[in-house]
Amino acid sequence: MRYAVIMVLLLVLLGCIYFAFFRRRRDQTADKGVSNSNVISMDRHRNTKNKPGEQPCSSCKKKNGKLIFYAQDNGTVVGLCKDCRVKAKKRDMLPL
Ligand SMILES: [Zn+2]
Repeated sequence: MRYAVIMVLLLVLLGCIYFAFFRRRRDQTADKGVSNSNVISMDRHRNTKNKPGEQPCSSCKKKNGKLIFYAQDNGTVVGLCKDCRVKAKKRDMLPL
């Protein structure tokens, strides 16, 4: 009877270790997914915002002062100068 109790305790302990390990791995992959998409693009967006005038316009490629960022239908972000902002409005792009 004593052996049976030890075996059950060992199985429960092993189960806990496996569960903790599996959950940690799943959390890590979830974190990677976030950093691959949202976090990096937002950092890039912030960096370009901190340096007005240094980023060329996504449409005409001119360094034409401060850029306004718009989200496109396919999910990408473009920075547009004053001249190209009119085109963005015509295409119903959302300013960020
Ligand atoms: Zn432009």
